Amino acid sequence: MKVFAHQDAAAFARTGAKEFRHNREVLVTPGARDVFSEAGIKVVFESGASAEASALTAVTSADDASLFSSPLAEKLKKEICEMGRRVWIREYCDGNGGNISARLAENRFICTPTGVSKGFMTPDMLCMVDGEGRQVAGTWKRSSEITTHLAIYNTTPEAMSVCHAHPCHAGAFAIKGMQPPPRLIPELEVFVGTVGMAEYKTPGSPEMAESIKPLAPQHQSIIMGNHGVITWGKSVEDAYFKMEITDAYCRTVILAQSIPGGASIPCEKIGELLELKKGMGLPDPRYGLKPAELCEVDPWTQMCGQRGCSTPVTPFNPLEGPSSSPAPAEMEALVQKITDEIVANLK
Ligand SMILES: [Zn+2]
Repeated sequence: MKVFAHQDAAAFARTGAKEFRHNREVLVTPGARDVFSEAGIKVVFESGASAEASALTAVTSADDASLFSSPLAEKLKKEICEMGRRVWIREYCDGNGGNISARLAENRFICTPTGVSKGFMTPDMLCMVDGEGRQVAGTWKRSSEITTHLAIYNTTPEAMSVCHAHPCHAGAFAIKGMQPPPRLIPELEVFVGTVGMAEYKTPGSPEMAESIKPLAPQHQSIIMGNHGVITWGKSVEDAYFKMEITDAYCRTVILAQSIPGGASIPCEKIGELLELKKGMGLPDPRYGLKPAELCEVDPWTQMCGQRGCSTPVTPFNPLEGPSSSPAPAEMEALVQKITDEIVANLK
């Protein structure tokens, strides 16, 4: 089967023809269909073989077709399906939510399709897009949020893969419009760094992509206001790891709020963690900052304000009982009433 992709449709549109005929040997991608509908070209499917259709396949990009089935593309497709499975198992996505992509070649990216659960994808469902998000290969329609991924690839050359999901714990910070406080667990400091915070924008919109652009080079994990999280890494698994670490951190911080007190990693020790990180060759915009600059805010003050997170604990006096229990006279009347009812029932 020949794939008739977006750029083939664009070349066809330039001929000025108003009708495109194809048979079952020619597969028209969703990207190509978009071009046809924009150009007002009618797509006609013919069940029998057609000489016209065979002639048209000559303009199909042989380069994209072979790139899309290359060993590297097949490896990335498998990895994306595996990470999709982990995203679903860890409950980081709901329904058809979330999307994963990987940089394949100059201006070419493999990405997940729209409208499917990320836990049950197979490699044949994946798509390939160019740097503008136009689909150039694959039979399933690409995710609309790929434009947000491209905002990362186009500003951050080190980003080889992007993972976007809706994990609940980081999502709780997203709906509060709050950045998770720093300096609480080494794992986040070393393997993720400071989590970025983007304002709410309509998912998949150009505004969403614009809001991610300035944050991506500084943050490998970004919380998207009232939406979810987007992470990038040096491989598909690495991008997924950033998601896992971000959500585990948020979960622990939320749980810790109910416990009185609030310790954090001492300022000077953050410098040591950053040294470790540098030794591993991991990027971090905080390299070179002084201890005071690394610890401007106390994490628990940032999280809960000056009063702290936990509610004051009232000591329990067993002789008095908790303050909310009925007064002794009321309690006596209650016991009497229950006893009377039991006795009446026995009779
Ligand atoms: Zn989303």
